Amino acid sequence: MRRREFLAIDLHVHTKFSGDSSITPKELVDQLYAHPFIKGVAITDHDTIKGFEEVIKLAKAYEDIIIIPGIEISVGNSHLIILGIEECPKYPASIESVIDFTKQRNGIVVIPHPYREFGLGEASEDIEADAIEVLNPHATQEENKKADDLARKLNLPSVAGSDAHSLREMLHAYTKVEANQEVDEVLKTIQEGRVKVASIKWW
Ligand SMILES: [Zn+2]
Ligand SMILES: [Zn+2]
Repeated sequence: MRRREFLAIDLHVHTKFSGDSSITPKELVDQLYAHPFIKGVAITDHDTIKGFEEVIKLAKAYEDIIIIPGIEISVGNSHLIILGIEECPKYPASIESVIDFTKQRNGIVVIPHPYREFGLGEASEDIEADAIEVLNPHATQEENKKADDLARKLNLPSVAGSDAHSLREMLHAYTKVEANQEVDEVLKTIQEGRVKVASIKWW
């Protein structure tokens, strides 16, 4: 089999363990397995790791898909995504405590939808994040454009994810990562900025 030049990963997916999503772990794994080229997702449930734990059990049966552990943390009225982490930080969480928690465990911090509802907005500029989500189908094109400008201004890698809460939203935005199918390598590659964002028309 020809080695892929990059992995295509949807870096922002919610399972039913988020409470506001209808995606079951089994449906998620089936849809990912069936997709012609997107072969990875990051599970980023709101403030829980349970969805990841269920998905990873099912995904073990398939060789060519990759599941990245993650959490979308509620910090006050905003969201912060941590990847590569399989436990929740203590709540109530502050931005600083989440960043320390993540770095201590060799995870990475992504600022999701900075200019949409629950985005960090201008506060994003003062955070030691590893990447910025610049393509989120639930944000407007203008909000995504502002996020992209912010990533350039801060010289941070840009990533994308569908922020799916239902199956039909899944895999509409994804990140091309120049990495092999290993979680640590994927995270390191994102940090190094060897990534490109892409989307499948959703509007
Ligand atoms: Zn969010
Ligand atoms: Zn989300």
